[in-house]
Amino acid sequence: MDPRRALQTFMPRAGVDYARERNYDPGPGQRSTVSGLSPWVRLRVIPEWQLIAEVLQHHSATEAAKFIDEVCWRTYWKGWLRRRPTLWDAYLRELADDQSELTDSNTRYHAVVKAESGIECMDVWTRELLDTGYLHNHARMWYASIWIHTLKLPWTLGADFFLRHLLDGDPASNTLSWRWVAGLHTEGKTYLASAANIKQFSASRFDPQIEFATAPVDVSGSVRNPPADALQPLPALPDYKRLGCLVHDEDLSALNWLGDQATVSATAGFMPQQSYHDHGIAASVCTFRHRCMREALDTKGPVYTDLAEVVQWAQDADLDVLLMAEPPIGMWNQIVPELEDALRPHGIQLAFQRHWWDAHFYPHAQAGFFRFKKAIPAAIQQLLR
Ligand SMILES: Cc1cc2nc3c(=O)[nH]c(=O)nc-3n(C[C@H](O)[C@H](O)[C@H](O)COP(=O)(O)OP(=O)(O)OC[C@H]3O[C@@H](n4cnc5c(N)ncnc54)[C@H](O)[C@@H]3O)c2cc1C
Repeated sequence: MDPRRALQTFMPRAGVDYARERNYDPGPGQRSTVSGLSPWVRLRVIPEWQLIAEVLQHHSATEAAKFIDEVCWRTYWKGWLRRRPTLWDAYLRELADDQSELTDSNTRYHAVVKAESGIECMDVWTRELLDTGYLHNHARMWYASIWIHTLKLPWTLGADFFLRHLLDGDPASNTLSWRWVAGLHTEGKTYLASAANIKQFSASRFDPQIEFATAPVDVSGSVRNPPADALQPLPALPDYKRLGCLVHDEDLSALNWLGDQATVSATAGFMPQQSYHDHGIAASVCTFRHRCMREALDTKGPVYTDLAEVVQWAQDADLDVLLMAEPPIGMWNQIVPELEDALRPHGIQLAFQRHWWDAHFYPHAQAGFFRFKKAIPAAIQQLLR
């Protein structure tokens, strides 16, 4: 799929039609009510601000309010996790504990991930996830709810299964959405799927006959939400003789805004293959992201998958400062210190910039989305300037 063509095709539907119909999921090949753009938005091939600027070319801000809100949920989740960085490590620890308790005899988990649960809708969604790397938002909600509350499987294992196979797999949107369904994000609020809701919004594709949970499972063993940290401003760009730009897989738009392009001596892309491997990310997801990065870099520079290659490239280019877009909380928590340690002996300093979109929104990712969204009109004004 060509994302820019898909964007143009979808835009006429992103106004009141989207608000009315986006919750319907008639299945693959039948979906015209949602954009299907998230794999590219996740990489910021199409960043949030571009998507919103585009929708405003076709609809008023009022007509497109629902679409704009949904796009901003992505920024909200990222900002919310940025303000609570310890939650990602807590999730990884909890996941490791839950994985260590999984044995071959834990048949329910193995049956679900092999699309052999015997629950028709779950098995169809599992196959779709494995075959295409995409699920409609409502299907993700139903899936997570059945996984957690009806099948009583640990939420961490479901979040991990999604993160490994979704083309748009994103530490913030994914982990926090699973926590939201489990009842961990908003105190007292849990998402319970029901047969009637699935039948209605799948346009009768499914008519599940199983007993759905009517009460949430007890998740009191999971880490609660830590209080929000203050958002620290990033240090100013240090003085440099030769500046390099390193573009990563969390923000390919950085090619257009990082540093003062006139003074950039060299540019490269870095997709950390080892980290993808450690997290068990599916080969199809790695291939997709590598291809997107290659296309974005085009003739501007090489794409590396190994940290040692990045260090060698920075040395060969005689850089003293290497600038990156501030990576969101997630896999980069571990990669950044490794990169800093590997560059330091060569006198190369790592520096970061935050895009104005993130700098505008992250201070508002303090509590719920309702408060966060009050920052949307000012961002739109800035976009239209
Ligand atoms: C359990 C669960 C796990 C999820 N995991 C991920 C994930 O790993 N990565 C991910 O990108 N999204 C995740 N989502 C959010 C959402 O389901 C997808 O972003 C959405 O389905 C993408 O499809 P689309 O592009 O057709 O969306 P559209 O409806 O066309 O929306 C347009 C854009 O808005 C953004 N968006 C829409 N809904 C949401 C949302 N609820 N949260 C965040 N951004 C949103 C996306 O960038 C999307 O491309 C998850 C949701 C749930 C319930």
